[in-house]
Amino acid sequence: MAKKARCPKHSEIAPFDIAVEFVEVVGEEGDFGEYDHDKRLIRIQQGQTPAEERDTVWHEHLHALLRACGVSDLFLGGDMEAEERLVSVLTPHLLALLRRNPALVAYLMAK
Ligand SMILES: [Zn+2]
Repeated sequence: MAKKARCPKHSEIAPFDIAVEFVEVVGEEGDFGEYDHDKRLIRIQQGQTPAEERDTVWHEHLHALLRACGVSDLFLGGDMEAEERLVSVLTPHLLALLRRNPALVAYLMAK
């Protein structure tokens, strides 16, 4: 069985440094993660399967990205339900794109 990869505790979404912490319960019941843009903080609920956890971590990073680059305000008018729909649609497809195309990822990561 493969060793479980650990989620980094920080990530960079320029110009922000985003902290990632694991908690027993996130703010909203039924949610597995949340992003607080004021605190630049992603909270991930502990106890998810590795696949669920990766999905949640990626999902919250997409929220952080949309907020960091202004998409939420500029194109979605600050409509958080619209942002949630967009992030929920993109999350599994972008994650699958990365996971199924390691050669593309290596090409994009080249210096
Ligand atoms: Zn969300």
